[in-house]
Amino acid sequence: MRSRLYDLTALSLPGGLVSLPALREYQLAGVNKTLQTVHSRSRFYAGRADIPPAIERLEQLADLPFTTENDLKRGLEDFLCISPGAVARIVTLPTSGSTGPSKRIGFSDGDIEAIITFFRYGMQEMAGPGMRVMIGLPGTAEYGVPHLLATALQTFGVTPLPYGAITDFDAAARFVCQQQPNCIVAHPVQLLGLAAHMAQLPTPTPAWPQTVLLTGDTVSPHLLARVERGLHCKAFNHYGSTEMGYGGAVDCGCHQGLHLRENDLFFEVVHPDTGRPVPPGQAGELVFTTLTRTAMPLVRYRTGDMTCLQPATCSCTSPLPRISPPWRRAGGRLRVGGFELTLPLLDDCVFALDGITDCQLWIKPDDTLILEIWTTGAGQDLAGLPLRLQQTELLQKLAAHRPLEVVTAPPGAPPPCTQGKRLFRAFRA
Ligand SMILES: [Zn+2]
Repeated sequence: MRSRLYDLTALSLPGGLVSLPALREYQLAGVNKTLQTVHSRSRFYAGRADIPPAIERLEQLADLPFTTENDLKRGLEDFLCISPGAVARIVTLPTSGSTGPSKRIGFSDGDIEAIITFFRYGMQEMAGPGMRVMIGLPGTAEYGVPHLLATALQTFGVTPLPYGAITDFDAAARFVCQQQPNCIVAHPVQLLGLAAHMAQLPTPTPAWPQTVLLTGDTVSPHLLARVERGLHCKAFNHYGSTEMGYGGAVDCGCHQGLHLRENDLFFEVVHPDTGRPVPPGQAGELVFTTLTRTAMPLVRYRTGDMTCLQPATCSCTSPLPRISPPWRRAGGRLRVGGFELTLPLLDDCVFALDGITDCQLWIKPDDTLILEIWTTGAGQDLAGLPLRLQQTELLQKLAAHRPLEVVTAPPGAPPPCTQGKRLFRAFRA
């Protein structure tokens, strides 16, 4: 079956048919609408010689300047293109640096409606009328992600089961057994922890969900496969950020990359250092321009997330472009000897081993690396996992350049997935 985002995009195109030329023509019109709007109404973009009021070809967008997280620190007012009274929701986010001002993102009623529509179509990949979806995401604010997701699910007859972040696997497993959701939406590593915990439960047999949606962090293929095996379900992967209006991309049942939200956003993948577009198949930073946003349109916003445009067409036959699962560049890479260790590389190595449910790479002041792992599993040699990890090609490569220890977290230590974004961290004694 074709990606549901195909159906969503088709709504915007003449004749309801998605072809790449028709999509690009629609996106060029959307980019120009955004350029005209910000040119006349945004304090940050207005009157700038390097921001033209229109372009003739989408390729010309690559010559325009980027908008960065630093720019957003100037304040919401500098980016607003509607009156402050018409802003329906403001989200305040911490910025990458540990200090300095936070960034604020504003949405209009129309922007919120577009988010709900994206969720409605994206969720139809994994849930249908009469089903129940457990929302294992943090936050209770009106217009926050769990609230908007619940609203979107109700529009097609699905009952949302709000739960919150999965920080206590036992409590979450009890909730799943009692409520028997058909689908669970949650953080990838939290779901892996839940799957490992549920696999150990005594009778009665747990009620397994049929599908899960992993969202909010990097997803390695091994992790996705283990969640599928552990929960006896089909797993889907979603990527998004507040700046892009929560939703950005979601995979179809073919698992060949994430289809992009092309009806609301125009995406580019650029070299993180030169800023020039990179060809499909090559990793670069994901950049987007909003096409339909009214409160706070953004031109060429640098997400700080690395990804790769997939070169071939998806088996679902949708012509919509796809990306590989993105990962955070800041805090998720480390130069060791002659190569760059990234969070996806580490995840691929660590989550390939059954029994490991989470990990944290610590960097000591003397450059020693400590890889701490969390383990769960009945009938497995958990004590032997550190040694098995040390024997992997990746860790052998690391150990050739830096002292490296692999340790198992002490019993009861909260896993990193329950503490926010997973990053490489400086060791705190
Ligand atoms: Zn597909």
